[in-house]
Amino acid sequence: MAVHVWSVPMRTRFRGIDVRDGVLVRGPAGWGEFSPFWDYDVTESRRWWAAAHESAVLGWPDPLRDSVPVNVTVPAVEPDRAHAIVTGSGCRTAKVKVAEPGQSAADDLARVEAVRDALGPAGAIRVDANAAWDVDTAVARLRELDRVGLEYAEQPCATIGELAAVRRRVEVRVAADEVVRRAADPREVDLREAADVVVLKVQPLGGVRAALAVAEAHGLPCVVSSALESSVGIAAGVALAAALPELPFACGLATVALFTDDVTGEPLLPVDGALPVRRPEPDRLAETAAEPAVEQRWRARLAAVTAP
Ligand SMILES: [Mg+2]
Repeated sequence: MAVHVWSVPMRTRFRGIDVRDGVLVRGPAGWGEFSPFWDYDVTESRRWWAAAHESAVLGWPDPLRDSVPVNVTVPAVEPDRAHAIVTGSGCRTAKVKVAEPGQSAADDLARVEAVRDALGPAGAIRVDANAAWDVDTAVARLRELDRVGLEYAEQPCATIGELAAVRRRVEVRVAADEVVRRAADPREVDLREAADVVVLKVQPLGGVRAALAVAEAHGLPCVVSSALESSVGIAAGVALAAALPELPFACGLATVALFTDDVTGEPLLPVDGALPVRRPEPDRLAETAAEPAVEQRWRARLAAVTAP
């Protein structure tokens, strides 16, 4: 398989990273992306490789729709910047990062209020705490933030038990993300008391077909989100969103907007709050090529993950 290592700076630090990089592989079915974050070990990265392999070798199930509504993603930025990001996006749903280390409850509230102001009363706001809160903190923060009106809260706490405890005490829907995708078997996690929504990510779950099986196992409404891929990886997320029997919420697939560049001249960026169901051709490989040290690091990682 042809292998290309890409690297693109982020506009704003997100998930603790300033530069996103990964591998693109080309097989008979097209291009696939392998880009586990650097804090994932070889074992956990195998599912990410399975997703890349599926994209490059098998292709994806047939789509049931030709466009996918998406949310704008708002990093842990100042209120003015948050307002501008939402206004510039054309999206009617926003996912707002909260519980960022070093920031306060007042910072989160000011950001969410700015996003509400930008979206207007008809827009939907979801928050993502990335498992940072304990139960009491989550309950207090979500009650406060819900005065602005929340669609759901993504992974407010770390464990299934904590999510269930929060869910009993707040009106806001709870979405499960890390607790599903980092499980040994994401289909086996018991979400019945703990979540109203499941977040599906193609690479961490091992591909579009594997993610569809996770959706079926839980029988809950699903939202497809990215793992901050280039447009090649985002296309797999779009394929999953297009293949889900029901798609009641906007998906978190507009994250190429967080990058300063992309591997294609026709990036999967939202128009009027939606992404088209298509597969972009990576035609900016030279412009986005990683420097040699980064390329070597990825080739070593790919070799480790694909070793028998
Ligand atoms: Mg999340």
